[in-house]
Amino acid sequence: MKDKVAIVTGGARGIGRTICLRFADSGAKVIACDLDEEGLASLPSEAKGRECTGSIEVHTLNVTVPSAVDQFVDRIVEAHERIDILVNNAGITRDGLLMNMEDDQFDAVLKTNLYSVFYLTRAVVRTMVRQRYGRIVNIASVSGVMGNPGQVNYSASKAGVIGFTKSLAKEIGRRKVTCNAVAPGFIATAMTDALPGEVKEGAKKLIPLARLGEPDEVAAAVEFLASDGASYITGQVLVVDGGMYMY
Ligand code: NDP
Repeated sequence: MKDKVAIVTGGARGIGRTICLRFADSGAKVIACDLDEEGLASLPSEAKGRECTGSIEVHTLNVTVPSAVDQFVDRIVEAHERIDILVNNAGITRDGLLMNMEDDQFDAVLKTNLYSVFYLTRAVVRTMVRQRYGRIVNIASVSGVMGNPGQVNYSASKAGVIGFTKSLAKEIGRRKVTCNAVAPGFIATAMTDALPGEVKEGAKKLIPLARLGEPDEVAAAVEFLASDGASYITGQVLVVDGGMYMY
């Protein structure tokens, strides 16, 4: 990871924040972007406090706005002259049963979880192809693999991310750029804090490891797929869910 330039979306909190800190621990130059300015503001000092060998710079960015994404990526390429790693992590839920689901619930989730992956990756991929090196890691979800009641919007967005990952892997493999997905199960973050206690207890019964995962357990999988050690792995979906879903 030393001196690798790594963009992480949704880096202010939860899984994204943990990925940023883990990458910086391993010596990467991390560029964290998010809507949450307050969360971003404390990241560089947290990295310093851990005596990371890398660094973290932060940018406010709404990943659903393509013009803002293009400008952001242009600025990063101008400043760093390369982009080695892109982690498309920003994501939201707007759960509800299909029969009651409003258009904006569906649109918001698709825009944030799937369109953002298109916008960011399109903006970054030319640089990676030119430099004949790149690691793209998309955060999907087991919900996109096995489905989940109350989440038709979220499952559709994450299944879309998986299809996107496989097609892009086939497009850019010859240029030594890999594209993989990590599909977390139930991970202890603000996203799952919002779930009713009985839903979390019910979920634990379906998980062979009998507990929710920690953000760092997802970050470890992301770090592996973003590393040079994963040079012969592309188009894959790595499920990190305590064994809840088995192929
Ligand atoms: P969190 O809600 O804790 O963090 C998501 C981050 O993304 C927030 O900081 C949020 O900022 C940011 N974000 C949301 N919308 C945008 C946007 N339009 N532009 C920029 N940043 C944005 O989520 P998690 O850490 O739990 O989830 C991270 C990823 O992992 C997501 O893709 C999620 O779908 C996936 N995942 C999570 C699971 C879990 O159990 N936690 C399970 C499976 C997948 P703000 O607060 O300002 O909105």
